[in-house]
Amino acid sequence: MTMQTIEKTAVCIIGAGPAGAATSMMLSNLKIHHYIIDKAVFPRDKTCGDGLILYAYKSMELLGGNLFQNFLNNPKFIHSKNIQLHIADNFRVNFKESNDRNMVISYAKRIDFDDFLVNHLSEKYAHKNFGSAVKTIENRENGVFLTLKNGKEILSKVIVGADGAQSIVARKLAKNKPNSKLMSTFVCAYFKDVKNLPLKNDAEVRLVYKDVLLFFYVFPLADGHVNVSLGGRSDQIKKHQINLVEEIEHIIKTHNKVKDKFLGATKVGSWRGWTIPFHFGTQKIVGDRYLLVGDAAGLSNAFYKEGIGTGMMSGIIAAKNIEKCLLQNNFSENFLRNYEEEIKNEFHKLLKFSHYSLRFANFKKPFYYMASLLKSTIESKSQALMKKRSYK
Ligand SMILES: Cc1cc2nc3c(=O)[nH]c(=O)nc-3n(C[C@H](O)[C@H](O)[C@H](O)COP(=O)(O)OP(=O)(O)OC[C@H]3O[C@@H](n4cnc5c(N)ncnc54)[C@H](O)[C@@H]3O)c2cc1C
Repeated sequence: MTMQTIEKTAVCIIGAGPAGAATSMMLSNLKIHHYIIDKAVFPRDKTCGDGLILYAYKSMELLGGNLFQNFLNNPKFIHSKNIQLHIADNFRVNFKESNDRNMVISYAKRIDFDDFLVNHLSEKYAHKNFGSAVKTIENRENGVFLTLKNGKEILSKVIVGADGAQSIVARKLAKNKPNSKLMSTFVCAYFKDVKNLPLKNDAEVRLVYKDVLLFFYVFPLADGHVNVSLGGRSDQIKKHQINLVEEIEHIIKTHNKVKDKFLGATKVGSWRGWTIPFHFGTQKIVGDRYLLVGDAAGLSNAFYKEGIGTGMMSGIIAAKNIEKCLLQNNFSENFLRNYEEEIKNEFHKLLKFSHYSLRFANFKKPFYYMASLLKSTIESKSQALMKKRSYK
């Protein structure tokens, strides 16, 4: 019989998606040894629209080294200077980057982007445990005790829940419950041979008014595939019994601004569905010996669904707070509240505005009226706002 020894660490990150990887990279910058666990082995896929904006750029810049430059030089990732938001068939608002800047959106298949991030984890400070899920979590007096599916046992002074929308840390330690009013449900798939896409890789986002407001995205990719997705608020989709796969196939076949592009196009793989949580501000994100980042903390943007960048940024803020915990040897909820405060300072206004925009956009006519009235102001002011939350 072999005796299982408990491995001990100061910090353990659960989840190596963008939020967990950014936490790990920042901890390494601060010379803090840590464990990082993921149930998957990379490269692994994640259901996503594959669009990177604002905080994704900012975070890669802040993480330093060659990360941002390597991202820009990577042939698997492509970039564009314009996002077209189609509010009606013949009316759109453009979120355009200024002439002196290179991009407002980039596209990266998550199988490649997450692998790219994981390949930048420190060999020295990040102790990787990939390929086995965390099965149980227990908060004990001397640390958080974790067991993995492969039988490994780990005791950590503090843990970071970076394990996504169905976080085991959020469920077991924070006791958070999913709130379908504060999450979106989306389906997406890759297509090949899509024609007549907007010029220069512009992002195409359409508001589709059915019984509920749905968002339809078409994002081009480096390998010639196109990521097509559709979704809306989870509770409304459930209430109106909307079948997202049927709806998106209907749009592709019949929408007068979409259908011609998909004549002769083929779906690669199957439709995949997943949720995007935006409950930040209503649920716990810190407690004794743990903090939550990314989707586990509900940090996606309710309106335009940015979750990769906000997740990465939250990881950076988390790592800096963990450094303080270790210096003070204090892992209490009270002490970790500082992390929550800093997250609020960074995101509160933006996320509140995005909730408000989503609610308002549900009212088709007033939203259209307001958007057409303010189109030129929105387009000119958005450049400064985007710059503030993006790369320098
Ligand atoms: C259809 C769709 C389209 C989207 N489009 C965009 C977009 O275009 N741009 C954008 O910015 N955001 C988009 N999002 C949101 C974005 O995908 C998420 O916000 C982002 O992935 C959050 O990153 P994360 O690191 O917090 O979580 P994840 O990326 O979900 O990573 C969590 C990691 O934790 C691991 N894990 C989970 N449970 C365990 C466990 N028990 N033990 C060990 N490991 C575990 C998983 O394997 C995974 O690697 C979209 C989401 C969906 C569903």
